[in-house]
Amino acid sequence: MKLVILYDNGGFSCFVKTDAETLLFDTGCDGKKLLSNMEFLNLMPEDVDAIFISHAHFDHTGGLFDFIERNPNVRVYVLKSFPSAFKTKIKESGADLIEVEKPVKLNKNLYSTGELGARIKEQSLIIDTPKGLVILTGCSHPGVVTIAKKAIELHNKQIYLLIGGFHIFNNTIANELKLLGVKNIIPCHCSGMGHHFGETFEI
Ligand SMILES: [Zn+2]
Ligand SMILES: [Zn+2]
Repeated sequence: MKLVILYDNGGFSCFVKTDAETLLFDTGCDGKKLLSNMEFLNLMPEDVDAIFISHAHFDHTGGLFDFIERNPNVRVYVLKSFPSAFKTKIKESGADLIEVEKPVKLNKNLYSTGELGARIKEQSLIIDTPKGLVILTGCSHPGVVTIAKKAIELHNKQIYLLIGGFHIFNNTIANELKLLGVKNIIPCHCSGMGHHFGETFEI
């Protein structure tokens, strides 16, 4: 499988290509930018089968409708708790709306953690690979350690890679992740460091 960071820092989006399907994890904050970033990286919007939205913040949902305008043949995974106006707009756009609440299998080796967090609800994407679990996080509002623990609990497997926004990232969190046996981390977006736009990870 392959991950390509499409959008980092002023929003987050990652292109996920697996044997089962091609998925867009979040859509950044601006659709024009998202599409031009894809073009720059030679990635075709038409190849995307599904879009996974981690949480209802604009820097993760902002590119969605421009993307759907370009390719309406997608399933869009959102949380049941997302604003109903947002969900209605997706339905009206012609894409397939799928509402997630509990942890669920999306396809072959792709899973959602289900809805986590108290105030800001968020789901993370879990990809079960031969190397271990690959987890993509949007902003990690429920806490990146909570998300990692949930994924381990659900799949009883080691985390090979944790990638995405970590919201807060410090030594304590790094140590906790280490104790959980997380092998690799790539903090992006709101983690407060670096720009990963265009970086590709083959797993
Ligand atoms: Zn964010
Ligand atoms: Zn957020």
